[in-house]
Amino acid sequence: MKYKLYISMLLLSSTIFSVGDKELIFIYNAKSGLVNEMIDFAHKIVSPGTYDCNLCAMSYGTFTKKKRWSDYINSLPIKSTFTYKDKVSALEKELSNLKFPTIIIRDGVELNEIISRDEINSIKNLNQLISLLNERLDENGMKLKKGKDKNVTEQEWEKKLTPEEFHILREKGTEKPFTGEYDKFDKEGMYKCAGCGTELFSSDTKYDSGCGWPAFYEALPDKIEETADNTFGMKRIEITCENCGGHLGHVFNDGPQPSGLRYCVNSISLDFNSEK
Ligand code: FE
Repeated sequence: MKYKLYISMLLLSSTIFSVGDKELIFIYNAKSGLVNEMIDFAHKIVSPGTYDCNLCAMSYGTFTKKKRWSDYINSLPIKSTFTYKDKVSALEKELSNLKFPTIIIRDGVELNEIISRDEINSIKNLNQLISLLNERLDENGMKLKKGKDKNVTEQEWEKKLTPEEFHILREKGTEKPFTGEYDKFDKEGMYKCAGCGTELFSSDTKYDSGCGWPAFYEALPDKIEETADNTFGMKRIEITCENCGGHLGHVFNDGPQPSGLRYCVNSISLDFNSEK
């Protein structure tokens, strides 16, 4: 926690900060006002990547916020507010000393910067932003809902899944190499857990490892759990779906950059959706 900031009672009448539950506040490196907001909006539409706000560059696509970003924001157990830097410059001195863009949590009258401008500017993509946000929300006592399908019983899974899916997802089986539907498969889209439908991997991170199973160098943030697996005399790291506990495969340290990881996944553990 870098900064502990307090706003005075006077400021509670401000349009942004109202008394109530905790609030996650994103402050863009942009100014409010009709003209500014129109220029800002036009910039986000035309070229968010060149905008002097890495938060915009990561979270905006053409015309609007990226779907993955708005889905993520809507899934949070905390209210989110997006605002402009000049709306806070009139506030308490410490707050106006913050560099924008920034992400803060308001809890009553207490303001706490959870991700600074330098951190935002060092983030490369939306996945990393979501991952860091999850981490900081967790540190601030906001446990995100996890593993809702972990209460499904094995009998229920047996009814829901095909025998092959049940064997691999629930009994930690492995499909024969070079036989899986998604091994030699390079369409654009999202790969979901075949058990519960949670999105796990993007085709952007899929590559041909030659190992005989679909391979990815990165998973979507916080969707995969890793556990040491010492069966068959090998030291491996098993990967499972964070939401339902379904077995996916293993992760190895021989993948390509930037991560150096190879998520080696059974095709049967995955469903493919061509929409991103
Ligand atoms: Fe799952």
